[in-house]
Amino acid sequence: MNERATEDYCLRWLSDDGFLRGAVAVTSQLVEEIRRRHGTDPTATVAIGRVTTGTALLGSFLKGNQRLAVTFEGNGPLAKLYAESDAVGTVRASLKVPIAGLPPRGNGYDVAGAVGRAGFLHVVKDLGMKEPYRGMVQLVSSEIGEDFAYYLTHSEQIPSSVGLGVALDGEGAVAAAGGFVVQAMPGCPEERIIRLEERISGLPSFSSLLVKGGTPEDLCAMFLGDWPYHEVARQRLTFRCRCSRGQVRSMLAMMDHGELVELAGRREDTVVTCEFCREEYVFAPEECARLAAKAGGEEGS
Ligand code: ZN
Repeated sequence: MNERATEDYCLRWLSDDGFLRGAVAVTSQLVEEIRRRHGTDPTATVAIGRVTTGTALLGSFLKGNQRLAVTFEGNGPLAKLYAESDAVGTVRASLKVPIAGLPPRGNGYDVAGAVGRAGFLHVVKDLGMKEPYRGMVQLVSSEIGEDFAYYLTHSEQIPSSVGLGVALDGEGAVAAAGGFVVQAMPGCPEERIIRLEERISGLPSFSSLLVKGGTPEDLCAMFLGDWPYHEVARQRLTFRCRCSRGQVRSMLAMMDHGELVELAGRREDTVVTCEFCREEYVFAPEECARLAAKAGGEEGS
């Protein structure tokens, strides 16, 4: 149970010598909202929670109107997991299949089995340039965190360590979720990276620290110990979808005239469900008829 009514946020930090940078995020409410909206089973909740948290962490390094989208595509039952984030901490996510249908594995969840061992991680960044930046790597473990680290290290060429955790309660709701990324900047002495990795691997699991109520500030201090660092930014993380009735109506209006006539001729309403927030937009046959008339008029002109 998450009794703390604290909001989700991401804390970005930089070591005083500039050799290490990173971000730590708590995403408990965000992941619970995604679970509730998509009706995911426990393994799928953990998988999409990790994908979303990793995406929010990457998003914390963006500026201005920049945005990014992350897709995990694998040969497991979840098939495709997708999340988007931006520089102001707005996040949304979707899953192709919300039910992994896999039994727990040991004390945990079979995330790698649910995603599938073979597949790809795609990252698309809209950095406000003419063309978006695109990166892709093969999945290395399908446990999500390691795949993000592999992507950052090999595609973006920044040696990185990523930890992502989602803990569920007895009913399958999210008790705590969060994650961290640590990156070595050019010129960072090798022994500092090794010492940091030793320190991180010696800590209890990230989700257990979160369940105990650790804040990003506490977790940051735990990782870095006595290394001097400072906070760079603190960004609130919220679930928000960009869909609207008007947008869905324009999408319907772009349909083929014949298809619209068919929708208008039905006795029941046409329901369009947003793939990100699962919000339902209902269009009565009369409204479909108006759209069809408009489309027909445009085709005739
Ligand atoms: Zn939506």
